[in-house]
Amino acid sequence: MMKPAYVRVIIDRGIRRELDYSVPDTLADRIAIGSRVRVPFRDKSALATVLATLDQSDAKGIRPIEALVGEAPTVSPSLLELAHWMSAYYCCPLEAVMRSLLPQVIRRAEISWKKQLVVQPLAKIDNGEIEKLRRRAPRQAELLEAIAKLEKPISAAQLLRESSLDNQTLRALAKRGLIELREEAIERDPHADEQFIASANLELNPEQVAALKKVTDALATPDRAKPILLHGVTGSGKTEIYLQAIRNALDRGRSAIVLVPEISLTPQTVEHFKSRFAEMHEVVAVLHSHLSQGERHDEWHKIHSGRARIVIGARSAVFAPLKDIGLIIVDEEHETTYKQEEAPRYHARDVAVVRAKLEKCAVVLGSATPSLESYHNATTGKYDLVALTQRVDERQMPVMRIVDLRQERRKAKIAPILSEKLSQAIANRLEKREQTILFLNRRGFSTSLLCSNCGQARNCPNCSVALTFHRHPSVAGRLSCHLCGHTAAVPKKCPECGKDALIYAGFGTEKVESTVSQLFPKATVRRMDADSMTRKDAYRETLRNFRTGKIDILVGTQMIAKGLDFPNVTLVGIINADLALHLPDFRAGERTFQLLTQVAGRAGRGETPGEVFVQTYTPFSPSIQFARHHDFAGYFQQELEFRERCDFPPFKHAMLITVRSEHEGRAKLSAETLVRRLRESLPTEFTLSDATPAPLEKLQGQFRFHILVRGQAIMRLSRLVRETLEKLPLPEDVIATVDVDPYQLL
Ligand SMILES: [Zn+2]
Ligand SMILES: [Zn+2]
Repeated sequence: MMKPAYVRVIIDRGIRRELDYSVPDTLADRIAIGSRVRVPFRDKSALATVLATLDQSDAKGIRPIEALVGEAPTVSPSLLELAHWMSAYYCCPLEAVMRSLLPQVIRRAEISWKKQLVVQPLAKIDNGEIEKLRRRAPRQAELLEAIAKLEKPISAAQLLRESSLDNQTLRALAKRGLIELREEAIERDPHADEQFIASANLELNPEQVAALKKVTDALATPDRAKPILLHGVTGSGKTEIYLQAIRNALDRGRSAIVLVPEISLTPQTVEHFKSRFAEMHEVVAVLHSHLSQGERHDEWHKIHSGRARIVIGARSAVFAPLKDIGLIIVDEEHETTYKQEEAPRYHARDVAVVRAKLEKCAVVLGSATPSLESYHNATTGKYDLVALTQRVDERQMPVMRIVDLRQERRKAKIAPILSEKLSQAIANRLEKREQTILFLNRRGFSTSLLCSNCGQARNCPNCSVALTFHRHPSVAGRLSCHLCGHTAAVPKKCPECGKDALIYAGFGTEKVESTVSQLFPKATVRRMDADSMTRKDAYRETLRNFRTGKIDILVGTQMIAKGLDFPNVTLVGIINADLALHLPDFRAGERTFQLLTQVAGRAGRGETPGEVFVQTYTPFSPSIQFARHHDFAGYFQQELEFRERCDFPPFKHAMLITVRSEHEGRAKLSAETLVRRLRESLPTEFTLSDATPAPLEKLQGQFRFHILVRGQAIMRLSRLVRETLEKLPLPEDVIATVDVDPYQLL
């Protein structure tokens, strides 16, 4: 290979331009595409990634690279290609993509390996030396004696712990030249103190056998294979298929990435994988947001060096620097948390499919409630569809009962939190010593503080939403905003009209917890939501206590809806199924169907069949009815017709442009100007909305306007929108963001 004379780089700052630098002779042997380098930029230095090597460059005033950061190239050519695709598709600068692609700790290269001091065993033991020492320095003699007995190197910390001697004594021995100390890099392993007992393959039922074969066929001929959508009802044993497919990939000398939603990345999930591959030390790496910077550094290098062959992680693990990837699995592919809500606003499932194509490997998307997009891809032949219609061990699907809250309200005059039927069912479970999960997708105690005289609610001063009342001591009986974190004291009188007429309205998980505790004083009730789980290990602890039967009733938000498997849970109560249905979002029906099916799936995972109570004011809404009958096909058909009628995904791509500013007038004017420019530059195949106030008009002190664009050719649309935005000078305090395939329409 010729030594490169120049390189083209993208620096880590938002300058939206690639730059050329010359390569000093001393670095020429080691620089390659994907290397990280330090370069002079203006009058400072900046970190950058090498995008291309060049024989010549027309750039003026070219300067040399200052240094190479790290030895081997950090970003593989296929990951670089993926970055370019993301930049074009998501209408997002390449440097922003690179920021997501490389963890900060790797990008900045500030943290290195943790070092530990290691004591070497002594080659020959001189008893005379020990005796001589014993008179002058008895503690040193004692330690030397201990070292004399060593058979293999030992960490200094462990030696001192075992001998109850101190560091000073150890240093003194080293100074006398009697022992040898060495520094060694060690890995920070977040699972170091856990034991994993090897687990064997489970026996598969005929449906699972067929599904596994489909995946292993794709592994054998990745060039010809399509993405596989694994549609398996809750409890149908998808994880076992993943595990056996990964084994197959490893046997072929390939590696695997498993994406799971952050919330499902529980100790239980990690244990599943670590146990199955327990005989291979270090083979499983775990990437999630709770890793320390040091741990993240070590896991990344374990993957990059090829020691780890299986990566399990949340969204960003789709960028894991694995080599020879054979299989990418996206579990719970319908999960909206795969979508990143800041630039680059990518969807990890879609990125996974593209990465699989670039890496020439198999990709499996699994779900009990596939997204409309993926299922549509499967029915139109773009993906292969594999269905698991049976629960393992022939367990029954739970029975779903709909409770009409309108009737309950008529009976009781007020809207009850727990209907009579649901209360009876809970009492019945407590008697039988079975467990209950109660689900409500809303935190807090009361969702708003209203004035019964003038009707004013207490709103957040920064956002256009009502403040939520929390009773829990951690927020000390205050009102708080769930969007920006603003808190306020509860006023004694209405600040608007001065009357002492404030009432609490609506309810959240806190209120459910306290109501249930009052109704069933003997039961142990716990709550699991973002408020009660602020301590790092609170989540693990609550799950463990629930699993071991120390908790009778668990109340919670989404946190308890996902992938958890508790054999003794025979009752699930959905306190209010309508919460998602009334959002101004074309996916509202899809979300409700998915949520009901997923939450219901927590019931009856053991021997006893499960029962689900769905409380709702809209018992005949299609999402609720289809979920009730476990009728995915029926739900899919009617939802698809609605989307086609309205030109929504999967028929057209959507792009949401948000223009925001602290100044309402300037935000509005900029949004309207942008719409005019887009009308000029976009061909008529794209439909463009007017600039309208966002449903959430004000967020964190900024006024927000939306422009919705729809069309088929998304790459072309992204390019045209980027060009239009680049030519439109926005006032300094106005920001325009582009979200391709948006999930958050508020
Ligand atoms: Zn008032
Ligand atoms: Zn707020």
